[in-house]
Amino acid sequence: MAFTCARCGSCCRYLGDYLVIEREAAPFEFACCAVSTGTEFTARIDEDKRDLFRDRSFPEAHPRACPFLRPAGPQIVCTIHDTRPVQCRAYRCVILRISRQEGKEIGKVHGTFGLFSDDPGLRAAWDEAVRAVTLTSPDAEEQLQRFLEQKGYRVS
Ligand code: SF4
Ligand code: SF4
Repeated sequence: MAFTCARCGSCCRYLGDYLVIEREAAPFEFACCAVSTGTEFTARIDEDKRDLFRDRSFPEAHPRACPFLRPAGPQIVCTIHDTRPVQCRAYRCVILRISRQEGKEIGKVHGTFGLFSDDPGLRAAWDEAVRAVTLTSPDAEEQLQRFLEQKGYRVS
């Protein structure tokens, strides 16, 4: 499915220990480390987000958040979107949305193939699906989608 980020900021709120600024290299430019992989990268504050970045009230109120996260009106945005690390580029919080035929959404599958649903029928179908599909295969998402559609769900 095509993933559209809603810019809610939830995924970045507790990444302050994992995405660390090591030093300021130049104005609005920082030497950083993605701690989980030990990857060094240079972060540059996007030109159109420098005023947002200057405002320290959000990081002071949310010390565990990624240091580059800032509110922008109703959204919470990454102020280094253009130079964010590869892990952030690849991240998708939702890979499948599952609904009944009449359209009511009853579950979501997150990027690590975890199902979030209270619906017992869907949970049972999902358990079957993950047993039937090799999750490491490149087309695992498509296979899971087909499996659930054959069970009568709408998947997008
Ligand atoms: S990837 Fe998902 S959790 Fe993260 S900001 Fe976008 S919609 Fe929110
Ligand atoms: S660099 Fe951007 S996308 Fe990555 S954790 Fe920080 S705010 Fe989120």
